[in-house]
Amino acid sequence: MLQTKLLIIGSGPAGYTAGIYAGRAGIAPLLIEGIQPGGQLTTTTEVENFPGFPEGIDANELMDNMRQQAERFGTKILNNIVTKADLSVQPYRIWLDDGEEIHAKTVIIATGASAKYLGLQDEQKYMGQGVSACATCDGFFYRKKVVAVVGGGDTACEEASYLAGLASKVYLIVRKPFLRASQIMQERVMNNEKIEILFETNTLGLYGEDGVEGAHLIYKKGEAGERKYDLPIDGFFLAIGHHPNSELFSSWIQTDEQGYIITEGETPRTNLPGVYAAGDVADPHYRQAIIAAASGAKAAMESEKYLKDNE
Ligand code: NDP
Repeated sequence: MLQTKLLIIGSGPAGYTAGIYAGRAGIAPLLIEGIQPGGQLTTTTEVENFPGFPEGIDANELMDNMRQQAERFGTKILNNIVTKADLSVQPYRIWLDDGEEIHAKTVIIATGASAKYLGLQDEQKYMGQGVSACATCDGFFYRKKVVAVVGGGDTACEEASYLAGLASKVYLIVRKPFLRASQIMQERVMNNEKIEILFETNTLGLYGEDGVEGAHLIYKKGEAGERKYDLPIDGFFLAIGHHPNSELFSSWIQTDEQGYIITEGETPRTNLPGVYAAGDVADPHYRQAIIAAASGAKAAMESEKYLKDNE
């Protein structure tokens, strides 16, 4: 059994920044990396909008730097996954994949968010064989090929624009008759001659022998003018939003109807004393590394204060 004053769960910008701040405060926190060390940012390439890097920085390098910085100040990082939690009593109890039990006086939940899928069986069938939820990770494989992106938000527009730089043609499959994305992203997509928007269109399934060769689509589902047709494509990218990774804690921690952890005003405080939420798991709006990092700093400062007040 391990004991710690502060357990940080997650290794994205929120988790590592919490580690840096808590480490510098002399707390020597324990940080559990989770399934995706470095978090969602490691699925992208270049980060151009993180302050301090005027020429941009490789996303993996940025996360590796944050990790080293956290370790430098005494954060102990475990490459493991949290499988169970009991936040009903203090100290809070957490179990890891290998059965190890951790008792923590304070906890920072920085477990991030994961990409959503449509829920089609074919998504599983063709996973890694034409189906992806990360254009910047997998776009390279679709040079001069035809791809489709599902979604009408900023992510979908960003991914479609990125893919248009590689692929010969990009279809944007949008279920509504309009895009939800910001004006600038809409314009970028509409002005790109490689991108064709298929409004009021849903995906029924995918087909192909050894990988995706096309999608079964339906136009104006359930309305006059409904039409089913097949669209030949080589790649199918999901960009329909994310869901917060809060399930493990939802028996004790208040979440909204989408599962985002509810925090108190501008603070990272949850409904439990000494338990904080930082980064995308508590942020349905911004989803930015810099904002996650800032909330990680706040959570570490709150934990430090709580530990002092309850010594
Ligand atoms: P959004 O929730 O904004 O958009 C999701 C899109 O997917 C919507 O168009 C939605 O359609 C569609 N969708 C959802 N479920 C389905 C489904 N089952 N079938 C078909 N389509 C579906 O998510 P984003 O990831 O795009 O953005 C999240 C937040 O992050 C936003 O606030 C966004 O502004 C921000 N962001 C900012 C960026 C930037 O500033 N550079 C980049 C990326 C994201 P419908 O409209 O019909 O609901």
